[in-house]
Amino acid sequence: MAADLYADYVIVGAGSAGCVLANRLTESGDYKVVLLEAGGDDRPHKEPSQFLSNVMVHTPIGFGKTLNDPKVNWLYETEVDEGSGGRKHKWPKGKVLGGSSSINGLLYIRGQSADYDGWAQMGARGWSYDDVLPYFRKSENQERGADKVHGVGGPLNVCDFPEKHPVSGALIDACVEAGIPRRDDINTGEQEGVTWFQLTMKNGRRHSAAVGYLHPAMKRPNLTVETRAMTTRILFQGKKAVGVEFRQNGLLRKVMVGREVIIAAGSVESPKLLEISGIGQGALLQDLGIAVVHESPLVGENMQDHFMIGCQARLREDWQSINYRSSGLNLVKEIAKYGTQRKGLLSYAVAHGTAFARSRPELEVPDIQIHLMAASMDLEYLGIHQGLRLEKEPGLAANPCQLRPESRGSIHAQSPDGTIHPKIAPNYLSDPIDREMAVTQLKLIRKIWQQPALKPYLKETGDPFGESDEEMLGYAKMAGGTLYHPVGTVRMGADEASPLTPELKVRGVEGLRVIDASVMPKIISGNTNAPTIMIGEKGADLILQDARQAVAA
Ligand SMILES: Cc1cc2nc3c(=O)[nH]c(=O)nc-3n(C[C@H](O)[C@H](O)[C@H](O)COP(=O)(O)OP(=O)(O)OC[C@H]3O[C@@H](n4cnc5c(N)ncnc54)[C@H](O)[C@@H]3O)c2cc1C
Repeated sequence: MAADLYADYVIVGAGSAGCVLANRLTESGDYKVVLLEAGGDDRPHKEPSQFLSNVMVHTPIGFGKTLNDPKVNWLYETEVDEGSGGRKHKWPKGKVLGGSSSINGLLYIRGQSADYDGWAQMGARGWSYDDVLPYFRKSENQERGADKVHGVGGPLNVCDFPEKHPVSGALIDACVEAGIPRRDDINTGEQEGVTWFQLTMKNGRRHSAAVGYLHPAMKRPNLTVETRAMTTRILFQGKKAVGVEFRQNGLLRKVMVGREVIIAAGSVESPKLLEISGIGQGALLQDLGIAVVHESPLVGENMQDHFMIGCQARLREDWQSINYRSSGLNLVKEIAKYGTQRKGLLSYAVAHGTAFARSRPELEVPDIQIHLMAASMDLEYLGIHQGLRLEKEPGLAANPCQLRPESRGSIHAQSPDGTIHPKIAPNYLSDPIDREMAVTQLKLIRKIWQQPALKPYLKETGDPFGESDEEMLGYAKMAGGTLYHPVGTVRMGADEASPLTPELKVRGVEGLRVIDASVMPKIISGNTNAPTIMIGEKGADLILQDARQAVAA
């Protein structure tokens, strides 16, 4: 097997973090970089075989289609999960340039300053809020303009929610009436409040990490991007990572590196790739017949996700929710509007507003997030097919999740063959605190439903949550599922047990880093795309600092 590509750095995975890395490491022109992506190109004209899928990638409302499209999505399935009613959950993840930022809900949330100060306190030195804020600013082109927390001129466009649907507006008002303060900007580090979402969107089109970071960098001669290139192994010389092996069009190929191998394959594939390359729990590797390069018992452990509970209510027939605008002649009109003006239904993100609330007044910071939308989904269809199908009758939704769950799951390789999906055990609601919180969230949603602002809109049908706490927990188990935020499976920390150092270097070997959502020691309080892009920005800086020091030495 001949090495056919050589580079200073190879990056595995062109997702939220991988695209940032590809851009920043090639910016100076000093380093040659190869980026390997298992999925295809995201640009419609580049991939005739997935032209329509790619059109959907770039159209905000296309989220409902890409959620279940194997051309751009890994479509994982979890193990049977006892804590959430003995169900198997469908887990989408982006498999295309841009990764999950190409199929996500476009919702731009950074989390709380306390999240990052908490990381530093846990041993992730250099990752406090003051440390990471410059990277959030650097990444951003905030359409509102720059201030002390927001940046302009960065690669990632962030805009306000473009069209304010009256039903979503009423949901926001109802949250205020229920005691959640109104807040103009949810991304200042302080979060408590309710408002419209900010979006990673520009002129009505998705602004993924591929659009913002990768496409401009692809013009540089020192960046090579290989698509449909599934990395199947990290190559070591002794304990030094020297390259990777990947499969492309039925061929086994190799990239050898002069400097570093960087894994940015996301929270599901990064731990698996480490394991099948010999870094992980000794017993697990031996069971799979994989030679141990370095024993690291926490690889694949510490998985955290937001478990979102579907809470929907019926609207009076005379109110036009998104459901009404999504079928028949109305849909044709919406398509024409989008085609000519990039406005209307097709430019909508899946959720419209968001609330951050405290479950108990004595808490310092919010521990619940609610996603508000003037639409209701066929939940049975979502559960079975993992596609979004709007209900025929008009409805609205206020879907809560606990921001920092206590439950921990795991993701591990189940075969030495890199093309086989890993075993995902989410362990939702396995901690008693999370079960109690699920009931608390439903009580909060019931309170919101009962506020005067929603009276003109809601049909008096009651809610299906049940009366006793036990019934409510039963509802949560059946109506909850992933908010698509798995993190933490290759966590960083100063302690020797953490697979990564705070510089994101894999402990026990040389020349290998992991830089993606898997490195978070603890899940942040909100949607995880912007924090992963920040991790990409800071990770690139850490690599370049080392490269400069090596030259100086
Ligand atoms: C359906 C969905 C909706 C979401 N909605 C939101 C939202 O609205 N707002 C928000 O903030 N967050 C959202 N998220 C979460 C957010 O998008 C992710 O946390 C973030 O994109 C993760 O970035 P990453 O770089 O860790 O991984 P990813 O972006 O998933 O990138 C990993 C990349 O690596 C590639 N890859 C994996 N294995 C290999 C291999 N062996 N060889 C080569 N390539 C490989 C993958 O194909 C992928 O392109 C959503 C996620 C999903 C799936």
